[in-house]
Amino acid sequence: MDHEIVIIGGGAGGLELASRLGRKLGRRDGPEKVLLVDRSPYHVWKPTLHEVAAGTLDARQEGLSYAILARRNHFGYTPGEVVAFDPLGKRLTLAAIRDDDGSVVVPQRELRFRHAVLATGCGSNFFGTPGAAEHAWVLERAEDAERFQRHLLAAFTRAAFADERSLSVAIVGAGATGVELAAELLEAHAILQDGLHADQRFRLDITVVEAAPRILAGLPEKISRQAQAELEHRGVRVLVGTPVTAVEKDRLLTGNGEIPADIIVWAAGIQAPASNREFGLDVNRANQFVVDDHLRTSAPDVYALGDCAACPWIDGRLVPARAQAAHQQATYLERTLLTLLRGQAPSDKPFEFRDFGSLVSLGEHRGVGNLMGGLLGRSFFVEGLIAKWMYMGLHLDHHRAILGLRGTIVLALARLLQRRVSGRLKLH
Ligand SMILES: Cc1cc2nc3c(=O)[nH]c(=O)nc-3n(C[C@H](O)[C@H](O)[C@H](O)COP(=O)(O)OP(=O)(O)OC[C@H]3O[C@@H](n4cnc5c(N)ncnc54)[C@H](O)[C@@H]3O)c2cc1C
Repeated sequence: MDHEIVIIGGGAGGLELASRLGRKLGRRDGPEKVLLVDRSPYHVWKPTLHEVAAGTLDARQEGLSYAILARRNHFGYTPGEVVAFDPLGKRLTLAAIRDDDGSVVVPQRELRFRHAVLATGCGSNFFGTPGAAEHAWVLERAEDAERFQRHLLAAFTRAAFADERSLSVAIVGAGATGVELAAELLEAHAILQDGLHADQRFRLDITVVEAAPRILAGLPEKISRQAQAELEHRGVRVLVGTPVTAVEKDRLLTGNGEIPADIIVWAAGIQAPASNREFGLDVNRANQFVVDDHLRTSAPDVYALGDCAACPWIDGRLVPARAQAAHQQATYLERTLLTLLRGQAPSDKPFEFRDFGSLVSLGEHRGVGNLMGGLLGRSFFVEGLIAKWMYMGLHLDHHRAILGLRGTIVLALARLLQRRVSGRLKLH
């Protein structure tokens, strides 16, 4: 069967695009014309994965089933991982779906499309560091974050009963992911300590290791300074200008010596999967699909958005890999695809990324960031509770795009009440 539009990847960008198109096309045409494919049966907004990892957000509660979202927003959905893509033949192959015991639930399939949008995101970039892939945890998918959380809980329990009563975590990379994870782990530990008998309380030592001369190197210096001061004030050891040369089971090796750690997390950079190179499209060194300023790949009728797309921006730079970019690109492609469905030529207006600033969460009540624009077109520094509320606003905005305003309000209230009863930390 041919599909008018196939969107591959239901993350921050792809799911918003499918939802917008489905709602515009309506109950009758939406599911007919738009098909979303994702390898996972449920969606968790990726910027919350550090919370899932620390246990301060329950992925089972946070996760939204694609099948339910498809019904609600009038698009089609099929589970499956795209393993081959033929842009000129306009078809793709989905891997067989298997049960936990390995038996085939659905055999390998082929889908045909008229227009395709690749929105498959990125994974980790280990920069060829020996041992990193084997020994470090990553936060690429909800499943990774959940596995990490179970490992963390076991480590917490071990530390509470061990003679030494301490646990050390080393986080490689002090971008938003590394910094936010450090802050969230501190909170998880603090909540847990409150519920433990004095004999079982243990110390949590967190070290954040960054190769660049400052943390949050992509953001203004004031944000880096503030975030570093906040982390250090709360006992986190921050090492900048310290490239990690190798990762071993229980330590990091750096040019300045070893850093022993019970748990190692790699949050040092992103890269698209090497399999993108086999998709018959132009890719860059980070395996991202090269797109023009209309988000068109090198093949006709194939578009790419979000982290998997290398999209030109200003001063020779690429649009940054952020949820807000994926969101803006989804809005842009919605218009393009609707025009194409009507049989008209899409507008000549190129995609222009507008940077509204960046916000970094430093725990439940704290945040720091900058907001761009405003009346004078300047950048404003925000911090504390206000920054945290704005940060939470981004998450709500994503929910609004896929659940609508009423659905988002109900969900936010339900989550608030649930937290009141069961507490902020998931300990099972
Ligand atoms: C811990 C963390 C914190 C972050 N914090 C922020 C933040 O504060 N602000 C911000 O702007 N950004 C943040 N980011 C970055 C942000 O999450 C990404 O930029 C954004 O999610 C990119 O959206 P996307 O749609 O391109 O890809 P993703 O959201 O990664 O979605 C990709 C989707 O594609 C699916 N998929 C992948 N491969 C296949 C395949 N072969 N077949 C089928 N399906 C496939 C995946 O299952 C997934 O659903 C953070 C990221 C992390 C990890």
